Amino acid sequence: MAETAQDLVELYVYKKKEVAIVCPSCGLAKTVPIEPLRTKGHWEVKAKCTRCAHIFRISLNFRKYFRKPLAVQGQLIDAASGTTVAQIALRDISMEGTGIEVQDTVRSLARGEVLHLQFPAVDGGRIVKEVELVFVRGSRVGARFTDKNFDPAVFAWVSAK
Ligand SMILES: [Zn+2]
Repeated sequence: MAETAQDLVELYVYKKKEVAIVCPSCGLAKTVPIEPLRTKGHWEVKAKCTRCAHIFRISLNFRKYFRKPLAVQGQLIDAASGTTVAQIALRDISMEGTGIEVQDTVRSLARGEVLHLQFPAVDGGRIVKEVELVFVRGSRVGARFTDKNFDPAVFAWVSAK
């Protein structure tokens, strides 16, 4: 069977040790360990199905998985009142969320809180993301973006050199 353009299957790898790859022709699933591949940001390979011999390409994008170190100032904002709750520094960022260090706060922060996170964009603009605080340990806070859609402004930070 001939290879076609739609046979390129891109897989985003999250916090898993392996990823399932499914033959687009016959549906045979195989799992592949990702650990040896993690040093490569993007990995693409041709695969041949062991059952139906269909040849297809697999693309694994590790950028979404990686957490990139960062040192950027920002604010946590109460969306309802528009007031700044905390001055923070972003210590790392991934497509899913960010690690924050709280520097100055007007009140205590709680796990599960939903706030707006404001920080500069790579191009000099401003990013405002709704975040849920997934952990609060002293001055260290983990914030997850509530919007799961691909955000080019976040990707610009994650992929920045
Ligand atoms: Zn197959």
